[in-house]
Amino acid sequence: MNEDHCPECGAAVAGGLTGCQLLFEEIGFRAAQHPRIAAVHWLAVDAYCMQHVERYCRSAKSYAAHLTGLCCGVEHGADRKIYAAIQRWLNGKVVLEKPPALNQRGSLTIVDVLADQDVEKTRTRVKEWADCVWGAYLSQHDIARNWLQAALEGQRKQK
Ligand SMILES: [Zn+2]
Repeated sequence: MNEDHCPECGAAVAGGLTGCQLLFEEIGFRAAQHPRIAAVHWLAVDAYCMQHVERYCRSAKSYAAHLTGLCCGVEHGADRKIYAAIQRWLNGKVVLEKPPALNQRGSLTIVDVLADQDVEKTRTRVKEWADCVWGAYLSQHDIARNWLQAALEGQRKQK
């Protein structure tokens, strides 16, 4: 087993998947310390999970949560009302078909995001990373947008 690279996102990181996981925790720590990083933390979580679908997207619902969340983060400016609608939609009864896992999940990884301690640079990199991961999922954009639409329609029906 190659322990110099994460087998899921391909990042060059000592300890492979375990080392990559520690970096994911690191961004959580930074978010706890800086409100401006906390503001992009959801975006980072969705980007990370869509690069680690074997671990974080085992069920169709979790896959939908992160793919649709990433869509919201990149295409809808991380609108909190939309994030909430996605959560409510997935808490209800929904029948979902899980799309196939992709092999290419974006060239940027959490290693690039955390390369610098500077808060503003980290924020910029989180956004670049999320754009990159979202771009890698081009073949599933329609699925994500349809799910997001379903979440917003479900919200309207409840009112
Ligand atoms: Zn990884």
